[in-house]
Amino acid sequence: MALELWRSIFGGKTEELEEEYGDSWRIEFDDSIEPEKPAQDWFKYIRGAFARFQCSKCKKTWPSRRVLVVFHFHLNKREKKGTVKARRFQQKCRRCQEAKMEEPTFDPDNIEVLLEKLVEKIRFRCYRENLGKNNRGFRPVGRSVGPHESAHCEACLRGICRKAE
Ligand SMILES: [Zn+2]
Ligand SMILES: [Zn+2]
Repeated sequence: MALELWRSIFGGKTEELEEEYGDSWRIEFDDSIEPEKPAQDWFKYIRGAFARFQCSKCKKTWPSRRVLVVFHFHLNKREKKGTVKARRFQQKCRRCQEAKMEEPTFDPDNIEVLLEKLVEKIRFRCYRENLGKNNRGFRPVGRSVGPHESAHCEACLRGICRKAE
């Protein structure tokens, strides 16, 4: 299960937050979050990353260098619990007539980088840590190969693909 992999990597990255602050963090997938509209007291982090897709009709696979991942995160200070909701934007096959939107598969290495960056954002937003120079400009996570066809990208169809950090 994809979520299990994300959970175990995220668990490793947030272990220190538990040690330093006594807060426990968890991550879940939520396809209903609106990228630009986090709930009150929640923060957002939007990032593009390399991932692969497979069409469930014709089994064709394709890589994409820009797959949008949206994170909304929140720390409940009273309960010492942090929550991250992640939405991975989908793409559909360009060969099939009535292709459905497919979920991306990320390499563990890319999940590592994504979640590393996410935890930096969490430290900055929820703990007021100043990470200074670590913030470089936009660079998608992972390889920069693979086509990007807007007509087949859910994030493009919703007009947010280019808003990724
Ligand atoms: Zn197909
Ligand atoms: Zn797109």
